[in-house]
Amino acid sequence: MPIARKLLVLPGDGIGSEVIDQVCRVIKIYEEYRAISFDTKNGLVGGVSYDELGTPLSDETLNDALEADAVLLGAVGGVKWDNVERQHRPEAGLLRLRKEMGLFANLRPATCLPALAGSSSLKSELVSGLDLLIVRELTGGVYFGEPRGITDIGGGEKRAIDTQIYTSNEIRRVLHVAMEMARKREKKVHSVEKANVMETGVLWRQIATSVGEGYSDIALEHMYADNCAMQLVRNPKQFDVIVTDNLFGDLLSDCAAMLTGSLGMLPSASLGEEDSFGRRKALYEPVHGSAPDIAGQGKANPIATILSFAMCLRYTFDLDEDAKALEQACADVLDAGLRTADIMQEGKTLVSTEEIGEEVCLAFGKLL
Ligand code: NAD
Repeated sequence: MPIARKLLVLPGDGIGSEVIDQVCRVIKIYEEYRAISFDTKNGLVGGVSYDELGTPLSDETLNDALEADAVLLGAVGGVKWDNVERQHRPEAGLLRLRKEMGLFANLRPATCLPALAGSSSLKSELVSGLDLLIVRELTGGVYFGEPRGITDIGGGEKRAIDTQIYTSNEIRRVLHVAMEMARKREKKVHSVEKANVMETGVLWRQIATSVGEGYSDIALEHMYADNCAMQLVRNPKQFDVIVTDNLFGDLLSDCAAMLTGSLGMLPSASLGEEDSFGRRKALYEPVHGSAPDIAGQGKANPIATILSFAMCLRYTFDLDEDAKALEQACADVLDAGLRTADIMQEGKTLVSTEEIGEEVCLAFGKLL
């Protein structure tokens, strides 16, 4: 009997269902070729959930997510829900899902396939073949620290405060994730903070150093965040894994994303605490949103979502070879000159969401 792996699929809003449909086809092909079966369940999240159930995240979806080995999500949001109260907005559902699952490590790879090097804002020789991974701390730091707020201080003046807080455990656990990721890659980690001017940076560097001592096979370097931003656009290929806090990770991962050319190509994973069996809660989703401007038109690029499933194969199910085959299938389709509108280049063939999904399935099948 093949082992069943529990997968919760949440298409969400806008192009979410279009890109998730293509992943479902990939999963079908995969199951056909390998003696693997996924116990797949579909659920509602975001605006579609609000419309049907009056909440962007129902208890049922949350429980399914907590019980699943992995959650695969499309995207949430759209103008239809812009005037809904904040706690019922589609994005609130996604934020709650991430929080309840305790997803503290956000993984954002930035890879630049040679076929798309011309779409980057940097010279193609700087980015062609780029393959780096940013591990961002996701549940702590200045976005959550108290006190925060804006107060009147008299004389028509106001004062705004945000608080950056990190405990040693919050730093330690995300450093361990980065080290483990590096072990499956080029064995190089840059730990990024501002230890020169911030107390949290000093503690971050101390903890990073002590975690690094337990990984003698990994080369650990420390870098200030401002230097890291500069190095990312000067020589991005020097990096393998970058690990950093919530705020710096937010900025640096968007910066790294643009090196690769298109939002439609960027996958992500968010991981939680390891349980006693060595399993982690995990959510895989493309970096892009629900793209209301192109929803329902067959124009969405499904590759970011397909690559998110490749990350799921690698990080949740430990099927690295098959993850590589799926990534290769996406690269082969682009090498053959097929493009969705967002990555269209002169002399290439424009195809729809379904057509590119079909071609990825065919290419994947050949590699399995
Ligand atoms: P967006 O990522 O949805 O779109 C930005 C631009 O990129 C648009 O022009 C869109 O057409 C294009 N684009 C995005 N994904 C694409 C794809 N796969 N293929 C081709 N083109 C693609 O960002 P936005 O327009 O700022 O936000 C739209 C909605 O999505 C908002 O409601 C926002 O809150 C939500 N959003 C959700 C998530 C999420 O679900 N994780 C992330 C970001 C934004």
